[in-house]
Amino acid sequence: AKSIGHNTSFVFDVDMIDTIRAHLTLGGGLRKAIEEEEFELFYQPKVRLSDEVTVGAEALIRWFHPELGLISPDQFIPMAEESGMILPLGEWVIRTACKQIKTWQDQGIPPISVSVNLSGRQFMQTDLVEMVAQVLEETGVDSQYLELELTESMLMADAQQTIEKLHAFRKLGVTLSIDDFGTGYSSLAYLKKFPIQTLKIDRSFVNDLGISGGDDAIVKATIAMAKSLNLKVIAEGVENRSQIDVLNGFQCQEVQGYLFAKPMSNKDFVHYMKTQKMV
Ligand code: C2E
Ligand code: CA
Ligand code: CA
Ligand code: CA
Repeated sequence: AKSIGHNTSFVFDVDMIDTIRAHLTLGGGLRKAIEEEEFELFYQPKVRLSDEVTVGAEALIRWFHPELGLISPDQFIPMAEESGMILPLGEWVIRTACKQIKTWQDQGIPPISVSVNLSGRQFMQTDLVEMVAQVLEETGVDSQYLELELTESMLMADAQQTIEKLHAFRKLGVTLSIDDFGTGYSSLAYLKKFPIQTLKIDRSFVNDLGISGGDDAIVKATIAMAKSLNLKVIAEGVENRSQIDVLNGFQCQEVQGYLFAKPMSNKDFVHYMKTQKMV
């Protein structure tokens, strides 16, 4: 058997994927993993470009499996979606993120907003808005500090119900963001119909900024149009200074990526925040 440390990255083989699937689908393996506290949220800073102050963070789930080691969300989220277990897991993510926001505020860390990723099935859940409202109330977190990251495909699914749900979230005071923007089929004109505040430009367009004229043009046009719709733009996957220079030239507001920090454990994130410039 292989022994895999928490910090070791490795390539999944087919056997391992089968093993994960078995763990997830058999006997409520995922519920058990929640109870046994095998999941953890990591946090990646979101940085304002104008002064490079950290103004937010994205919560990204990690699964530390006792035998398999660190399992990436790209591996288990699709399986959790398939089995429906994404619902309890998604609720755990929102509750954990909110508890964390509260704890940070109590520790005197400057208040930042934290975004949480929603999956398609979770977004379709009928009592999603009520659940989020209840978690906010329970944890005593002001809704302005919670942001939800949705994807274009979720918005396209069932337009009327979707719009109602988004309005309900806005009424609650939660911020809404479109993740991986540019990889789906929505146009900016179409987005105007949805009450969203932020676009996250997908990493695939950010990668070759400054190298690929085509990507530069796409990002520039996206930022310009987003501005005219009063949407904030954040570029994800920023890894080097030349990307920053290009994004600055296009007046992109925020960035997120390994250049500033990788996703970190709560403990490392608190340390990171304490060594940051203050707002
Ligand atoms: P995403 O929402 O697009 O998250 C961004 C991914 O890019 C994260 O991978 C992050 O670690 C990675 N990343 C950030 N900066 C850089 C960079 O500069 N370079 C590169 N190469 N990568 C960067 P991660 O954490 O493995 O998450 C993968 C995906 O899993 C996420 O993509 C999201 O779709 C999903 N996911 C993560 N956590 C959750 C969760 O709590 N709930 C749900 N439903 N999905 C989640
Ligand atoms: Ca995201
Ligand atoms: Ca993304
Ligand atoms: Ca992505």
